[in-house]
Amino acid sequence: MTKRNVELLAVGAGPSNLGLAVALEELAPDLAENTLIIDRNPAIEWQSGLLLPWAKSQVSFLKDLVTLRNPRSRFSFLNFLKATGRLDDFINLGHQSPYRLEISAYLNWVAESLATVRVELGQTCLGIEPTRSSSGTVTGWTTTLADGSQIASRYLVIATGRDPNVPPVLAGLPTDRVIHSTRYRPGLAGLQRQLPYRVALIGSSQSAAEVFRALRTDLPDSDVAWVMRSIGPTADPSSKFTNELYYPSYVDEFFDTPAEGRTLIRQELYKTNYSCMTPAMLQSLYTDFYRDRLNRRQDRRLITMTEVTAARESDGEVVLELTDRRTGAVTELRRDLVFLGTGFDWRPPKLIQGLAQAAGLTSVEVTRGYRLVIDEPSEGACYLQGINEASHGIGDSLLSVLAHRARDITLDILEHRAGLGAGTPAGVAAHSTNNIGGR
Ligand SMILES: Cc1cc2nc3c(=O)[nH]c(=O)nc-3n(C[C@H](O)[C@H](O)[C@H](O)COP(=O)(O)OP(=O)(O)OC[C@H]3O[C@@H](n4cnc5c(N)ncnc54)[C@H](O)[C@@H]3O)c2cc1C
Repeated sequence: MTKRNVELLAVGAGPSNLGLAVALEELAPDLAENTLIIDRNPAIEWQSGLLLPWAKSQVSFLKDLVTLRNPRSRFSFLNFLKATGRLDDFINLGHQSPYRLEISAYLNWVAESLATVRVELGQTCLGIEPTRSSSGTVTGWTTTLADGSQIASRYLVIATGRDPNVPPVLAGLPTDRVIHSTRYRPGLAGLQRQLPYRVALIGSSQSAAEVFRALRTDLPDSDVAWVMRSIGPTADPSSKFTNELYYPSYVDEFFDTPAEGRTLIRQELYKTNYSCMTPAMLQSLYTDFYRDRLNRRQDRRLITMTEVTAARESDGEVVLELTDRRTGAVTELRRDLVFLGTGFDWRPPKLIQGLAQAAGLTSVEVTRGYRLVIDEPSEGACYLQGINEASHGIGDSLLSVLAHRARDITLDILEHRAGLGAGTPAGVAAHSTNNIGGR
């Protein structure tokens, strides 16, 4: 078994760790030289499962990997447009939010433009364990890849996104019948476009709406029933005022807010990011419905105020038990395929749960600087990106804060390293909890 050694290993080559790579090259060049980023995908793509031609980013192009931290950086989205000859066209279009495909191409361009940080694709991380010296001190981390090889590192940054949420009631269905939105494109590739599938789509998020819209062209002859608990698709209720709570500068205030206050803020803000869709998406969906009615098409319908309360496979089809929340009436819906727009699991990803278990932790807690709290002197440190909404605020899973977060992590690593040099054990007082059992 091969075992390599790097000073910093970053798992996941999405926006968070690519933003970190940029920060490392700009703020800590010697650390950047000994940094490796790995990703399980064979190519760098942004949200590859839902990389649809018409899908757009929901945030300004200025919230790229670096501009909010360093507007003069060569890694900005504007410089990407300039370097690829598209600046005039982008300005002329007059939109703040780029197509998802453009952000994806930008991420790939950044990865290719890195001078020292190395990126390896097609490398799936299976597990991570702390490495201990003979005296038991944590000295770093050992990461095991799918090919059996291992990478040892003093520093580790995990940015692998959250695990898809598959409602327990559907978890027993055969996997080839259930396609979560994160697997929309690969799932579709295995289907025959011309067949008239009977499809159920579950959820009321932006992702569900995107799947619903995409199915019109991807499976044009299929019958699609969109089932949701809510009263109907709704647009996010955010405003310029509430958008200020997505600023990087709001992270400090949120982190210092008592736990009950944080919970309250998250409840108030929930609908600005979850179980809703953009006003533009809502308008486009309704226009499609209007046209369907005009053309007397009935193969695209909404089933609202309805819960899926049981599911089984029977005689080559999926049987969903639907319970009407208004009346309690139970009906059956027989389908060939179930698409899920049910979002993500709130618990720490299984990869991080495994690491926590191996390190003897009962909960996953991070400091203000995103460092995993391991409650013992340590010569290594691990950082978590994108799953700290409970402690760092609603922007944590989004592009909005990642340029600043990359700087925070870089500076924290530099401080940790300096502490090692001075013989100071690494321990940090302020932290907050991300319980393994969920919120
Ligand atoms: C459909 C969709 C649209 C979105 N649109 C927006 C938007 O418009 N604006 C916005 O701000 N946010 C948006 N988001 C939120 C999104 O989480 C962030 O924009 C951003 O992608 C987070 O970056 P990340 O690097 O933390 O995680 P991700 O982008 O999820 O990247 C994680 C990376 O880790 C890799 N990986 C996972 N597991 C492993 C493993 N075991 N081994 C190796 N590699 C692994 C994955 O292949 C992936 O490349 C969207 C999310 C979704 C699902």
